[in-house]
Amino acid sequence: MHILLIRFSSMGDVVLQTATINWLRSLYGKNLQLSFVTSQEFISLIDTHPGLNNVISFNRRGGETWKDLIKKIDDLDEKQPIDLIMDMHATLRSFRLRMNFWTTPALTLDKRRWERFLLTKLKGVFFKRLISKKVFGLEPQVERIINDFESMFFETRGVRRTKDFVRGPHEEMTTLGALPEYKIDGDYVVLAPSASFVPKRWPIQSFVDLTKTLLDSTSLKIVVLAGPEDKFCDAFSEIKSDRLLNLQGKTSLKESMSILAKTKVCIGNDSGMNHIAEAHGVPCLTIFGPTDPRFGFAPHGSKSKYLSQELWCKPCSTTGSKACFRDKLYCMEDISVAKVYETYLSMGVSP
Ligand code: SF4
Repeated sequence: MHILLIRFSSMGDVVLQTATINWLRSLYGKNLQLSFVTSQEFISLIDTHPGLNNVISFNRRGGETWKDLIKKIDDLDEKQPIDLIMDMHATLRSFRLRMNFWTTPALTLDKRRWERFLLTKLKGVFFKRLISKKVFGLEPQVERIINDFESMFFETRGVRRTKDFVRGPHEEMTTLGALPEYKIDGDYVVLAPSASFVPKRWPIQSFVDLTKTLLDSTSLKIVVLAGPEDKFCDAFSEIKSDRLLNLQGKTSLKESMSILAKTKVCIGNDSGMNHIAEAHGVPCLTIFGPTDPRFGFAPHGSKSKYLSQELWCKPCSTTGSKACFRDKLYCMEDISVAKVYETYLSMGVSP
């Protein structure tokens, strides 16, 4: 049996698919040849995943063409014919790819686009509550994916479902060399102030103030993780402390994963970093702005928590990409530093 999974992006969504990998592996064991297609930017999230046999990258930014990608999949298919394509991206792009292999059976992830659309369009907290109870049921995305596919595979009855993102040796997802390089020892908290879209970011000054509170009230070190483009993290320079390590733009994705795997807790926005931390079994505190935990992306670990304001205007888009249409970002600015700190304390992870 050879299954090809497709998920090009984004960071958090690729990480969430590790649940599907684990589930398929537990279902078919060694009889399964499992291949995964993703964008080059996210390849290091899964290239050492123990559940995968092949990882195919698509380096579009590096000049690879659609034809190159099809050739890679053709080569794989020649070695062992692909029996099933599971399209976890479910967009025109992945449809286009699937059409090149139209004789191969395919399953497509139901992204609940209609329900999400309804949540964003219906104004008023009452209606939103009603529809989320009827349609969403607050089911985490990883469970929803597996439930959906379970209903398509009769033979999965009785097989234990994977609730955690990553089963097996977590270390294999990481390069453990990152910690000595950055001299991070002892207990630390990771702050992840970035997100794919600006409205999804809790104000950077709030992250800075939270850092001051954590430094004053605990003996923990604080590590800031963010990408090279997240220059707004320069705001941390107002804090002079050798217990603060601002690694914005300094770590590779693998190194960030390694640092996240060892942290006591990760505090961040609804973003890929928090999903990576959860994939390593780390408690997360996720701050939701214009997106909604009812979409299924809330952290689900037993110690993890999230904060999300209930507002008539929220969610205002399905991905958080739209600019705020109100006079200020109430969904984020109304979440105080004190509230985040109090929630952090309630998680019971502070030494
Ligand atoms: S305050 Fe409302 S409209 Fe503005 S970004 Fe947040 S959810 Fe959207």
